[in-house]
Amino acid sequence: MPEPIIEIRGLSKSFGSVRALEDIGFSIGKGEVFTLLGPSGCGKSTTLRIIAGLEDAEAGEIRLAGNTIFSSERHINLPPEKRNMGMVFQSYAIWPHMTVAANVAYPLKLRGVSGADIRDRVARALKLVDLEAQADRDAPKLSGGQQQRVALARALVYEPEVLLLDEPLSNLDVKLREQMRFELKLLQERLGLTLIYVTHDQSEALSLSDRIALMNFGRIEQLGPPRDLYENPATEFVRDFLGKTITLAGRVAALENGGARVELARAPGSLACAAGARAFPAAGTDVMVAIRPEKVRIAVEGGNGGLPGRIETVLYQGERTECLVRVGEELLTIYGPPEAAGLRGRDVTLVLPAEAISLWPR
Ligand code: ATP
Repeated sequence: MPEPIIEIRGLSKSFGSVRALEDIGFSIGKGEVFTLLGPSGCGKSTTLRIIAGLEDAEAGEIRLAGNTIFSSERHINLPPEKRNMGMVFQSYAIWPHMTVAANVAYPLKLRGVSGADIRDRVARALKLVDLEAQADRDAPKLSGGQQQRVALARALVYEPEVLLLDEPLSNLDVKLREQMRFELKLLQERLGLTLIYVTHDQSEALSLSDRIALMNFGRIEQLGPPRDLYENPATEFVRDFLGKTITLAGRVAALENGGARVELARAPGSLACAAGARAFPAAGTDVMVAIRPEKVRIAVEGGNGGLPGRIETVLYQGERTECLVRVGEELLTIYGPPEAAGLRGRDVTLVLPAEAISLWPR
């Protein structure tokens, strides 16, 4: 990991009887995009607000570029304006009755920057987000995407060490949100920004982040690069939060060649499972066999060693086809190529690669 810019240890926080955060800790490298991901109420925004200094933790410590900005033990708690962090919210929080330029200039005025300097820095910030031409327009009259870019320019204008973003794209419509993802990523890469990003949207987190902390009930369930979390989830919660999974009931028949053979409970046949990140349960254990739907191949001919099935129906989706496949008593939703749309009613073989299978308690 690059040199850490943020180091967090043992953050805990309650609201009355609600335990919002329990012993949260992580470090973030300079130039990293670090995402706090999780369902509503898991504690993402509270973590971000504590980092920003907008909320106090009961316990823990936060260091920014080596300096302690919060410590419950040492009674250190720098106010938000002394933390040199920029913040962007879902609601944009654009000031009404102000032009775009005045909105962006505001944080500099608060910091006592001089007039000429303000003009230069506002112009630079507006250029970054491609809003130079809108500088003199009334900010609230801009489109949602443009307003969010004003919020971004306003957060960047004083060159904060870390940018905190709380669901910054969720107020935008789907098309704009996808476009803004690219814009944000390009800007982050160009300027080498360190971002702490809060979202409940797994695809946004997977696509933008260098690392993700997936939270649940105020704790971090798993922390790592997106691909690690997706391909080697540590818990069922992580597995199911980050995408679709096909599961089949089975029992470990034997441990062989460093892998396991699982006999299926509700379908004929057995499956080989290669060693992965998860340990194998002992022979005789009831398990759920899990695999991501895009890892399964539908073979019309051949498919030796696969599971015999029948395609009950198909949902054509343009770039792919979702196939409902009956295998014994199990009904599985498999992602096939667009051509699979023509396979309704056909007998096929499902090929499940041994290295893509993981075993879970049942
Ligand atoms: P969302 O995506 O819905 O914003 P979140 O993951 O950001 O959720 P938080 O807003 O951090 O979650 O809330 C964590 C827990 O703390 C929740 O149970 C929430 O109800 C509670 N909570 C947060 N802020 C307060 C507050 N000011 N007063 C009382 N309870 C609060």
